[in-house]
Amino acid sequence: MPIEVGRTAAGDLLWIANPFTGVVTYLTDIHLKNNGFASVATRQPHPAAGGASLDALRAACAFCPGNEALTTEEVLRHPAGAGPDWEIRAFYNLFPRIPVECTGGRNESYVVVESPDHFRADAAHPDDLVYSAMLSADRFRAVVRATAEVARTSYANPAVTSVAVRKNQGRESGASQPHTHTQVIGSGQPLPPLRRELEVMRAEPAVFHQLVELAHLERFMIAERDGCYLYFSPVGAFPRCYEVVDLATDCRLDEVEPARLDLFADLVHQGLSILGDSPLDYEIHAQRGVPLHAHIHSRHYPYSNIAGTLNLPTGLLRGRAND
Ligand SMILES: [Zn+2]
Ligand SMILES: [Zn+2]
Repeated sequence: MPIEVGRTAAGDLLWIANPFTGVVTYLTDIHLKNNGFASVATRQPHPAAGGASLDALRAACAFCPGNEALTTEEVLRHPAGAGPDWEIRAFYNLFPRIPVECTGGRNESYVVVESPDHFRADAAHPDDLVYSAMLSADRFRAVVRATAEVARTSYANPAVTSVAVRKNQGRESGASQPHTHTQVIGSGQPLPPLRRELEVMRAEPAVFHQLVELAHLERFMIAERDGCYLYFSPVGAFPRCYEVVDLATDCRLDEVEPARLDLFADLVHQGLSILGDSPLDYEIHAQRGVPLHAHIHSRHYPYSNIAGTLNLPTGLLRGRAND
């Protein structure tokens, strides 16, 4: 079944239904209405900052080099070796995201620290944090490769049948630690959105191709390289979403060919660069039965979900995505 859309008499997109969840996005002008709330400064004091210096914050951060003893057991370090001279480091998440009883009695939640740097080089404020989009393309590739290595570690547990990568950037997206990091989560069954995607793929194997086609048609395509696509998604979970889909890859994350994984990482990095240091999350779904893909959600724009629907500005259709 093709993706359900409604169009104006002129052929412009009026609504579109998410083929997995059924949530309908309407293209409207409600973003133009007056906002009755007084504006608030977007930058607020860091709750833990007090008058603390940036050095003091680094000294207290379990994810900073030199504080390795403050984390749980390490599972990956690049480059290999001891001491604080690492570039990427992974360890168990202190709090399993999925109860250990559901994963054979083992903690299958991991943290991957993306950089030894906590603050930007020119930081003057506790919120001047390193963020994923400012990492070099090479480093971001290395981060994604590290998540695949950690996924392999998780799959070594016979109780794990699915591994997702989840990044939260910024307090607004639910990040609890300011030092840039991502999570790898193994589970005994595909997480709910992925399970739904697998169900829909069985009934409609072309659904991701249809999303890519629609992105072409509506001029939502941002980049395409050798069968891998980055596009604005009008059917994301939040008002501004991007997706990266590799239509040529259909396997577990730790089984993706290194060159494909690098290509995929490059497009995810490009997607993150659109949002910069603003709050966001992304999730990588890699499982046999669906194309390798990532959902990138901006958490910056007002989110009002009315009765299972979302609204996007009509201006998007005229290339004004920031209206
Ligand atoms: Zn830190
Ligand atoms: Zn997905």
